[in-house]
Amino acid sequence: MKITDIRATPVTVPLEAPLRHANGCHWGRFVRTIVEVDTDEGLTGLGEMGGGGESAVAAFNGLKSYLVGRDPARIEEMRFLIANPTASLYNNRTQLLAALEFACLDLLGQKWGASVSDLLGGRLRDCVPFASYLFFRYPNPKDGAGEVRTPEQLIANALELKRKYGFTSHKLKGGVFAPEYELDCYGALAAALPGDRFRFDPNAVWSAEQAIWFGRQIEGIRNDYLEDPVYGLHGMRRVREKLRTPLATNTVVVNFEQLAANVLDAAVDVILLDTTFWGGLRQCVKAAGVCETFQLGVAVHSSGELGIQLATMLHLGAAIPNLSFAADAHYHHLTDDVIEGGKLQYKDGAIEVPKGPGLGVQLDREKLCEYHEMFLRLGNYPYDQDPLRPGWTPVLPNDRWADPSDGRIPEIPF
Ligand SMILES: [Mg+2]
Repeated sequence: MKITDIRATPVTVPLEAPLRHANGCHWGRFVRTIVEVDTDEGLTGLGEMGGGGESAVAAFNGLKSYLVGRDPARIEEMRFLIANPTASLYNNRTQLLAALEFACLDLLGQKWGASVSDLLGGRLRDCVPFASYLFFRYPNPKDGAGEVRTPEQLIANALELKRKYGFTSHKLKGGVFAPEYELDCYGALAAALPGDRFRFDPNAVWSAEQAIWFGRQIEGIRNDYLEDPVYGLHGMRRVREKLRTPLATNTVVVNFEQLAANVLDAAVDVILLDTTFWGGLRQCVKAAGVCETFQLGVAVHSSGELGIQLATMLHLGAAIPNLSFAADAHYHHLTDDVIEGGKLQYKDGAIEVPKGPGLGVQLDREKLCEYHEMFLRLGNYPYDQDPLRPGWTPVLPNDRWADPSDGRIPEIPF
């Protein structure tokens, strides 16, 4: 089989409401680039890439001359072809590699009649459990609904998600307001959902001292882990020395060099594997093997996803033995998807791993067209800017918190 073309299409899919985070905001929508890899055997493999609210079409078009004519089965060779570690000093293409790896695995699965999780060693579970991913949210500019700013709104949102989807783990994305206010929110959330499990992620914006203070306040909560309280392996190590709650990261252990450093001198207990950040599913499976050997915890990270990327997360979650925690997904914040049959469904807090060959999902051409037109209409958005705090530049550690009494609605085109 030979690759004959690579087609990339940017799409914009609306979110229920803008999602606030430590560095800015998802402005009421996700921009994703859908990748189709065509072959001379008539099969097409699917990939997907996100990014900071921007289209990646130009980057994929630039890789056509590397990949057309090549065998999609040579995935390991592709890693060195487009993401050689020393050449990456100039061209960091890890995320592009990931999207192309998804498409190649999808192609091979289709050709061989095997699902991607079969290619990764076979599935150990048919459903992957997910945590509710709770964000502070601006109101939807269209109808003013969906705001999450107060503890009461947060609890109402969590209870609704639990009722609709069956979540028993809950992640709160913080780093937006001062840690004292977010501690009140997190404590209220845990008190409102007795028996459930919780995790908190301020996106590394605290000082080590703030992180140690916060971590000690939450020791009575059934925490899965405290995620990226500070930036850097050394900072995480300082915090970890003072806390009993496990620390997790999707920020400072995202490659094998960092994983080795963390094994040699532990700074993090739980490695959150992201099929995009690590450069593909196979890299994540390899990393999970290292974590299994050294008894580090593993979970599946979400960097934002539509159904294609979600399928990669499901196949990864199905194939790794040491999935210690529920996976994260932004998916329930989305209003729609570009795959056939609409959004994949949660049942009892879990999503079934697609059964068909390859990734097991197909593109809905009408939806692809509809959301491509939405991209053309709305354009990119700056993921690391806040629509209601123009000019705000978060520093590390941050001391420029948002005001929890500010209930304005951002004027964002929808
Ligand atoms: Mg995180």
